[in-house]
Amino acid sequence: NNILLNISGLQTYFYTDEGVSKAVDGVDYYVKRGETIGVVGESGCGKSVAALSVMRLIPQPPGKIVGGDITFEGKSLLGLSKHDMRKIRGNKISMIFQEPMTSLNPVFTIGNQISEAIQLHQGFSKKEAMNRAVEMLKLVGIPSPEQRVKEYPHQLSGGMRQRAMIAMALSCNPSLLIADEPTTALDVTIQAQILDLMASLKEEFNTAIILITHDLGVVAETVARVVVMYAGKVVEEADVYHIFEQPLHPYTVGLLRSIPRIDLSVKKKERLQEISGIVPIPSQLPSGCLFHPRCSSVMDICRQKLPELKYYKEEKHKVRCWLYD
Ligand code: SF4
Ligand code: MG
Repeated sequence: NNILLNISGLQTYFYTDEGVSKAVDGVDYYVKRGETIGVVGESGCGKSVAALSVMRLIPQPPGKIVGGDITFEGKSLLGLSKHDMRKIRGNKISMIFQEPMTSLNPVFTIGNQISEAIQLHQGFSKKEAMNRAVEMLKLVGIPSPEQRVKEYPHQLSGGMRQRAMIAMALSCNPSLLIADEPTTALDVTIQAQILDLMASLKEEFNTAIILITHDLGVVAETVARVVVMYAGKVVEEADVYHIFEQPLHPYTVGLLRSIPRIDLSVKKKERLQEISGIVPIPSQLPSGCLFHPRCSSVMDICRQKLPELKYYKEEKHKVRCWLYD
């Protein structure tokens, strides 16, 4: 079985004073061993909540996984005890975030943090673990790693911190890395370097990667397959070629138009075409197709009935939109 992670019908709700917030409401996607996929959508579409559900890191209350299942290596993660989940987190599944300071502890040296993770999960001695930490820092392209392991996170630049976080995430050789907006806080040059780094590490370790981003431009050269999310649901899924060459869902089309073109926008002052309107608040979702208030192709049925995620022309391309029914 080639499927590493399978999310099916996932529903993660938050119970707040304002009502039930359906942050993730029926999400299906999978990742094969060694595959890189992109999960794309504006912020507030449920991408991170779905990923945190996989890690079982949803704060409860107010959050709760109320439906669906998540299987990893064929076993349901939702049934695991906290203890068993801890053995998977950081070991078989690692997650990195936009801001490395949320994962790196400011009061411990880089070396201490990486080696501690290695000791915890791999049963290495302190010395072996520190040697491995040095090795990992070297692997992610941090110069003079023997020196860097003794430094604290604030002594590193933003790009170097992100590299250190990747080193930590990969130090236990996980089979799945979830990267949530890993390059969003970085400038464009460093961004490209980090994406290259992730691609080469993936080759080296055969790690499957879920790259979560609001920027379709980031996934273009990085992932094999793209899952587009809107308002807590998957609205389109296809290989990266079809997403760029033959996008079906009006939301995907809008995301493509709003990819920042750094080269052009600076010189020619080309304006990005933003999608008009905003992502609905998950406690106040519209009727029918959740995208209908922002869609320029809206039809009567769109306001009344929610379309299903369906295969388009029997290709490996799925879309949730009445235009293709
Ligand atoms: Fe637009 Fe209708 Fe398709 Fe929704 S179902 S994206 S409103 S055309
Ligand atoms: Mg997010």
